[in-house]
Amino acid sequence: MATVTFEHATRSYPRSDRPAVDALDLEIADGEFLVLVGPSGCGKSTSLRMLAGLEEVDSGAIRIGDRDVTDSPPKDRDIAMVFQSYALYPHMTVEQNMGFALKLAGVGKAEIARRVAEAATILDLSDYLQRRPKALSGGQRQRVAMGRAIVRSPQVFLMDEPLSNLDAKLRVQTRTQIAALTRRLGTTTVYVTHDQVEAMTMGDRVAVLKDGLLLQCDTPAVLYERPANVFVAGFIGSPAMNLVTGEVADGGVRVGTSVLPVDRDRLTRASAGTGRVTVGFRPECLEFAGPGDGLSLVVDVVEQLGSDAYLYCTPEGVQAGVGGSGVVVRTEPRQAPVPGETVRLRVRPGALHVFDPVTQARVD
Ligand code: ADP
Repeated sequence: MATVTFEHATRSYPRSDRPAVDALDLEIADGEFLVLVGPSGCGKSTSLRMLAGLEEVDSGAIRIGDRDVTDSPPKDRDIAMVFQSYALYPHMTVEQNMGFALKLAGVGKAEIARRVAEAATILDLSDYLQRRPKALSGGQRQRVAMGRAIVRSPQVFLMDEPLSNLDAKLRVQTRTQIAALTRRLGTTTVYVTHDQVEAMTMGDRVAVLKDGLLLQCDTPAVLYERPANVFVAGFIGSPAMNLVTGEVADGGVRVGTSVLPVDRDRLTRASAGTGRVTVGFRPECLEFAGPGDGLSLVVDVVEQLGSDAYLYCTPEGVQAGVGGSGVVVRTEPRQAPVPGETVRLRVRPGALHVFDPVTQARVD
């Protein structure tokens, strides 16, 4: 087990005008489960591959424990990687697949058998050791791929979208199993996904990347409650946070015919120079308000989910569907209005996020 450190690690692919990973600084604690998340092309896989030694580091450094591995070949890094494709050998049995890396490393037969049997027990694969991959379900193949990593007892697990080939239900089950397993083993894990729900449910901390830049790295709770910028605010959470940019007016921000109140201090700092401000509020942070209070919203669509209802609304005085102006509201299903109704909703105290519309940074 070990810590992992990215120190200003940068990778620029030939013939590209900006780095795929730009001066990444990240310290991952011993035994931590860290998730790299972000939209496609943000640099997640490149970061992981730099740590694996599969991608050059153009500047900066990468350390595993006290060792600088920036220029070490993959085999000397004491890591094990689980790929999206699993990359199982089709002509080998489960047992041979799981033991193959140990065999290459010259580990004795008895020791290989012991470690494979142990991993198979942990992963509930003991009855399948003599099967070939094609005779396994998707979930079992995924577990063999995990088993192949576990038998090596590496210092760090690297996982690149390991659940993306599973159907939705199995993905939910398996993500819980992987998170529990790596914690039980106490192995430092770096996990890549584009799925923010996966990131939030699995990670001790989550690092959000965009365009090769690390935007924020923190616990799921902090990312949700105090996003550092507009991008993280909109990326984390489903349905997404409502984000509105508008003119400052009468102690707040104008949203259609209403004014959403914003405390003077944040309003002044966020709108400096532009007279505009970006505010954010989550769908679950709105409550029904009396006449003259809160936002006046026209309900376009009501989605009944049983446990909750979601209202898709347009602020009164704004043309529906213009410039991402919609507001999503979560309510009690029995409280839900009907489409076409106009409702008044206010943001719960303390639940309003304020951002500078120019820098996109959070203002506290
Ligand atoms: P992610 O894993 O977040 O989808 P990647 O790390 O794969 O992102 O890619 C980051 C950026 O680098 C993207 O713009 C991608 O097009 C580019 N890129 C990735 N691999 C290569 C490569 N081998 N050659 C050139 N550009 C690449």
